[in-house]
Amino acid sequence: MNKIEYGMKLDFNQVLIRPKRTTLNSRSEVKLERTFKFKYCEEKWSGTPIIAANMDTIGTFDMYDVFSKHGIITAFHKFYTPEEFDEKKQYLDKNLYMISSGIKDSDFSRLERLYEMLEFKFLVVDVANGYIQTLVEFCQRVRTRFPNIVMAAGNVVTREVVEELILNGKVDIVKIGIGSGSACTTRLKTGVGMPQLSAIIECADAAHGVGGHIIGDGGITCPGDMSKAFGGGADFVMAGGIFSGHDENPGDFVEENGDKFKIFYGMSSKNAMETHYGKMDNYRASEGRYLKIKYKGSLENTILDYLGGLRSTCTYINANSIKDLAKCCTFVQVQNQLNVSLVM
Ligand code: 5GP
Repeated sequence: MNKIEYGMKLDFNQVLIRPKRTTLNSRSEVKLERTFKFKYCEEKWSGTPIIAANMDTIGTFDMYDVFSKHGIITAFHKFYTPEEFDEKKQYLDKNLYMISSGIKDSDFSRLERLYEMLEFKFLVVDVANGYIQTLVEFCQRVRTRFPNIVMAAGNVVTREVVEELILNGKVDIVKIGIGSGSACTTRLKTGVGMPQLSAIIECADAAHGVGGHIIGDGGITCPGDMSKAFGGGADFVMAGGIFSGHDENPGDFVEENGDKFKIFYGMSSKNAMETHYGKMDNYRASEGRYLKIKYKGSLENTILDYLGGLRSTCTYINANSIKDLAKCCTFVQVQNQLNVSLVM
């Protein structure tokens, strides 16, 4: 058996997108909206294929108000109760939010209650380690009970489990990313992971081959990374850290030496465990960071910066739309992504 898989796997900062002759004269000619037909759900979806992560510092009702104006999906964190959804339901557009769930029996009961109340369209079944067999079984159960929802599940980073989740788990979309998140310490604590761009390229190919889709989840540090994720074949890109530190994020500002900060933490961090479960079990190691993020202003500005970046990438490679971005994208492997001579 070969113990080492050779051939370099790549992260976003190890490539650049090769510019190509283009007939697009302006960013305004680029369409960021995409329409998808899914493998199992019969309804189509149109919107901006970006998803705000289902973290309790990101996937909140206040954040939804801003994301939804741009056609971006908010994945609500799984600690909202049915009562909290009930209060908000008349303001929520089914096409622009996603319900999150774990894989316990109590999660299934919560989904039944939520479906009765909201008839939600998007669901993400989310576990840190998507390689466990019980994930596939839970997804099968969800598909039998709610045949016409768009179901995403993850997280995984290799092709065989992408195919398994789509074909046997009856999942429409597989969420890709292990160890890539900004608040994630999985790679440090376990040594497990896969560079995110290569994971996207491999898993998009696997999913598209069997009629499914993928979400590239985590690892976006700048607008260029988001373009690279779409360029690698991600149908949707999910992000958390880049959307932290704004007025609309939950929690008070922390002041230190005249600067303002907001708190952002991983959903497996000690902080998240203690907030939601009252304790952290001894057998678990915290696989999440607790971070102070320097105040970034309004979320709207960050969103516009990312959408502007995507449009601009498209004009460099003659892509009329995000859909064409993957088709028109060729990567070059690089040693240096940026000139940082004046930044240090
Ligand atoms: P980011 O955009 O911040 O780089 O990544 C967001 C993603 O990080 C989330 O969608 C989720 O998949 C992942 N994530 C969030 N919290 C944790 C955590 O505590 N531990 C790990 N391993 N991953 C996390």
